[in-house]
Formats: sequence, C-alpha cells, structure tokens
Amino acid sequence: MTSRKRSAAKRQREEFEAGFGSLDGLFERAERAQEELEATREGAYRKKSCDRKNRYDTKLDAQDAIARSADRGVRGLTCYKCEFCGGWHLTSHGR
Ligand SMILES: [Zn+2]
Repeated sequence: MTSRKRSAAKRQREEFEAGFGSLDGLFERAERAQEELEATREGAYRKKSCDRKNRYDTKLDAQDAIARSADRGVRGLTCYKCEFCGGWHLTSHGR
C-alpha cells in the first residue's frame, strides 16, 4: 500500500501546484485590470488636456490664436505642444 500512498501524495502535490497555477492567473488578471485602469486614467487626462481643446497644427497658428484672444481681452494665454496629438493647444496661466 506504500505505492498508493505515494501516488496520493503526488496527486496532492499536483493539486497544490495547480493551485499556484491558478494563483498566477489571478495575479495576471489583477495586473491586466490595473493596466486597464491606467489606460482609463490616461484617457481621462487626454480628454482634459487634448480632446476638449482647440487644436492648432503649428505653433504659429496657436500664437495667432493667442493674439486674437488678446484682441478680445483674453490675456495670459500660452501655447504648448501636445504629447497626445502632436498639435498645439492653448492654456491660461491666469492664477
Ligand atoms: Zn492634443
């Protein structure tokens, strides 16, 4: 009966290792969920800093828009190159 015991122990170890296997899967799923969360956060940041804003193809266009805004009494605008779309957006430093 020793051989039977041994196989039982073997089966137990296999189940134990299988348990670790599914735990690995759990970590993987958690990691993926975290990545999705970060992608969503970046998406929200992008909406705020890019999608919602007017886009200018060149710095000159952006500066032109700043000049036109200044004519209308909107001052303190600056422009920056967008890391998402590669275009230019205006932002105010009025604080
Ligand atoms: Zn942009």
